[in-house]
Amino acid sequence: MSEPKTTRIGFIGVGNMGRPMAARLAKAGHAVTVFDRNGALAAAVAADIGAAAASDAAALGTASDVVITMLPNGKIVQQALLGKDGVAAGLAAGALVVDMSSSYPLGTQDLGRALAERGIGLVDAPVSGGVRRAVCGNLAIMAGGDAAQVAAARPILEAMGRVFPTGPLGSGHALKALNNYVSAAGLAAAAEALLIGQRFGLDGETIVQVLNASTGRNNATENKLTQFVLSGSFGSGFSLDLMAKDLRAAGDLAGDLDVPAPLLRRSVELWNQAEKTLGPGADHTAIYRYLSTLDRETDHGA
Ligand code: NAD
Repeated sequence: MSEPKTTRIGFIGVGNMGRPMAARLAKAGHAVTVFDRNGALAAAVAADIGAAAASDAAALGTASDVVITMLPNGKIVQQALLGKDGVAAGLAAGALVVDMSSSYPLGTQDLGRALAERGIGLVDAPVSGGVRRAVCGNLAIMAGGDAAQVAAARPILEAMGRVFPTGPLGSGHALKALNNYVSAAGLAAAAEALLIGQRFGLDGETIVQVLNASTGRNNATENKLTQFVLSGSFGSGFSLDLMAKDLRAAGDLAGDLDVPAPLLRRSVELWNQAEKTLGPGADHTAIYRYLSTLDRETDHGA
């Protein structure tokens, strides 16, 4: 009996999340080729995890049966795949693309149609859990798409986390945007509570301890306030501009579906303003720093 053909996996975007995710795939025994706009980073990651590095996106396509994208947003995913000398130029018909970035769901459906015209499948499989859970292969993975294509992607995805099939193409990206809205609103509420409590004279750690033993507990109180806010590190590995992008996706989705969502609308405004004020490179936990600036401005009568 002949050996089953090994699936060749191409991985594009080896930043904060992509690097540990590609490492999990290599560790699980998959043949992985990586590509990143930052060539030095791709070379370093390839050497570190035992993968090959492709010279460009089309070369990555030629070297792959399944291509995973872990890029900043859906527009960049679309360019990387369909742009001049993009991945699709090298991919054979019958190949599968799995977009694990947090992309806009309606854009994902357009991309699926464009790839289908070339005989290429698309599954959207965004993740939640952050860098820490990416490193240990414990991400929550929301997989949308044709059931047969999701089933084909599943053994690969399981090297990176737990797979939740969510329905048709785009449904994973829709659920991811909604998750991050809930996550961002929870963090902003916790950060505001911390600021007010500290102004009252309460100790920060005491506030966190009591929230975590009480009904105010959420992912931010458990995993972000002490670790990244009170420590002053603001270094969770998830940038504020990416969180703001996810909130805009949730807001646009609500608008496209005619769902009035007043808290979401206010959250989009808050995070957009924070992004503008703090500038590129700020961590999403720095929303606390942004809120404390507002506090000072109020104090000074601004
Ligand atoms: P990142 O900025 O650290 O990494 C993105 C990588 O993509 C970079 O290495 C960059 O050089 C590369 N890149 C950009 N444009 C490219 C192109 N055209 N071709 C090839 N490479 C390109 O971002 P990240 O934090 O790893 O996030 C990636 C995706 O995952 C985003 O959609 C984000 O919203 C989502 N996400 C992030 C986290 C997190 O905790 N960081 C958690 C869940 C989901």
